[in-house]
Amino acid sequence: MYHYIRKPSEEYPFFKFLHINDFKKQLDYFQEKYTILHPSVLVDKQLQSGVILTFDDGVKDHFNFVLPELMKRKISGIFYVSTGMYANKKLLDVHRLHILLGKFGGEFIYKQIMACINQSMLVDAHIEEFKTLTYTSQKNDAFTVLVKRMMNYFIGYQYREAVMDILMKDLIADEEKLCKQFYLSENDIKQMHSAGMIIGSHTAQHKVMSKLSLVEQEKEINDSFSFIDSVLGKQSIRTFCYPYGGFHTFTSDTEKLLHQYNCNYAFNVEPRDIEWNDLIHKQQALPRYDCNVFPYGKIWEN
Ligand SMILES: [Zn+2]
Repeated sequence: MYHYIRKPSEEYPFFKFLHINDFKKQLDYFQEKYTILHPSVLVDKQLQSGVILTFDDGVKDHFNFVLPELMKRKISGIFYVSTGMYANKKLLDVHRLHILLGKFGGEFIYKQIMACINQSMLVDAHIEEFKTLTYTSQKNDAFTVLVKRMMNYFIGYQYREAVMDILMKDLIADEEKLCKQFYLSENDIKQMHSAGMIIGSHTAQHKVMSKLSLVEQEKEINDSFSFIDSVLGKQSIRTFCYPYGGFHTFTSDTEKLLHQYNCNYAFNVEPRDIEWNDLIHKQQALPRYDCNVFPYGKIWEN
């Protein structure tokens, strides 16, 4: 599993990503030590030894840096795109946070959030914990962890987008333009598909599926697959991966829905190999490793 793969940028000094040169070295390593397999082996249920490459979130990095490298090596991967922003031209909240933290660092963003929230926006269960928070560490990374906890747990879901709207308006000049630069365009997706890449669904809004009602979950699955089908027509493989990942992020109902939508297989995040039993009984929750557990997979720090 890969996310951002790019080169260092002065504009985003705190951004976390895998350096393109490390990505190339890691591909060399996989090709030497294992084989890089086509994603169709999981549909054909051929159990072979090898590696399947997946890239989450539909970011432009995948067109700019990953596609040329895979084409050069004549290999294929799965690109899981979230589709909500193609309609509303706003970045998804998860990526807004990466951009703000990447541009300004954790400490600055923490202070900005503190300045625009009040106690009524906090989730009751977390108010006491919030009041007793003390900030002793000077490290930006510790602030980053705190910012993520605030946005994901302390601030009620209904206020989160409003808080993000304020931060974006104050700190980012032109969100619509950035949105275009940040994500794959429909044309990029078409070109990637023509080059033999598989495009999978990563929901519409990139929310934690287990937090949504069944109706909302179905909408996420339906909207995203419909969008991809409308751009590419029917693909040979229909695949999905859960936002955030981990067993707490989806339920057996989510797996059933994916079956109903004729999804061939879905990826979770669980660091172990895929076994025969997974292919037969757990197609909608296949395990997957983060690239950082393999050589050259470490996140770049400026
Ligand atoms: Zn994601």
